[in-house]
Amino acid sequence: MSKGGRIICVVLAVLLAASAAFALYQKDRADKLGSAMLKEQAAASEEISGLKAQVEELSQKLAESYVAPRVVFSGNEFLQGDILTVHVEMNSAKGLPEIQTELGKPVFIEDPAVAGITAEPAGSPVYTAYVPVGYAQTPGEYSVSVTADGREYKGSVTVSARKYGEQHMTMSSATASATIGAENANEDYAQKVTPTYYTAESQRYWQGTFIRPVSGPVTTEFGLYRYTTYTDGSSRKVVRHTGVDIGAAKGTPVPASNAGKVVYAGDVIITGGTVVIDHGGGLKSYYFHLSSIDCKAGDIVGKGDIIGKVGATGYATGAHLHFELKIGEYSLSPWALWDGTSDLYK
Ligand SMILES: [Zn+2]
Repeated sequence: MSKGGRIICVVLAVLLAASAAFALYQKDRADKLGSAMLKEQAAASEEISGLKAQVEELSQKLAESYVAPRVVFSGNEFLQGDILTVHVEMNSAKGLPEIQTELGKPVFIEDPAVAGITAEPAGSPVYTAYVPVGYAQTPGEYSVSVTADGREYKGSVTVSARKYGEQHMTMSSATASATIGAENANEDYAQKVTPTYYTAESQRYWQGTFIRPVSGPVTTEFGLYRYTTYTDGSSRKVVRHTGVDIGAAKGTPVPASNAGKVVYAGDVIITGGTVVIDHGGGLKSYYFHLSSIDCKAGDIVGKGDIIGKVGATGYATGAHLHFELKIGEYSLSPWALWDGTSDLYK
């Protein structure tokens, strides 16, 4: 072999060796890269499962710190004319609760003055609804269902009959025909007073025990059956008396039974000088037969503020105050409000 040929052979051999070494190097590098990737993947999935565990732990803690709303009924047994009070401690729940019952159409209002209820966390709202048990509610069992934050709470109450008396009275037929007998009397009442049955102030105004506005004798009791004979010899079918009549001299000042918003003040053919006050949540007091009215619709009155004077206007036999308490269209006994025993105060 020539010298040149040998050199070429050596160069070829060196090139072959180098390319073999390079191939080995490449393979080693690929192996190393592969295992690095696998290691990275393993680390990533470890990280993910760690995060999952953290999320699970957090949602567990969240569920543990959620305090469900608590619904409290003031009682389960009532007489016709009573009030059932329903409180809802919202706790972790949000939104305005709702209430459904055949007893009426009560609404919840935020109640800043509930005694004996501790909301958790502190400062979470408490809502209250006043449920009427009408004076003529058929005795029996009634369901009351409350929905708060998507959860439903079902309760029931038993209504028993209240004993009512009866009254036999004689009435001037001239007064009767000028008032309840007047052509547009019912329409007048329906336009002025009836709409107040279906409104409710969304804030609570009343504080403490309601006062009996006039101190005279009770001339007609709450709920009694009234039989009327007119001076012309005719008679009226029996009617129920839905408030309490208190006899007093004409001109005696009439104070608001409790704080509230005047929702009607004016003259009505049947009820004479009339004032209606919403004490909050649709709980209203009605004052009839006033000789003068010392407030106007929209006024915010305090407990004891003079709203008018006793008279004998409208369908009345003499000077007296007809005081009535209502939630919605349902008339309720004022006595438990006056003597402090009503569930309103629970
Ligand atoms: Zn009356």
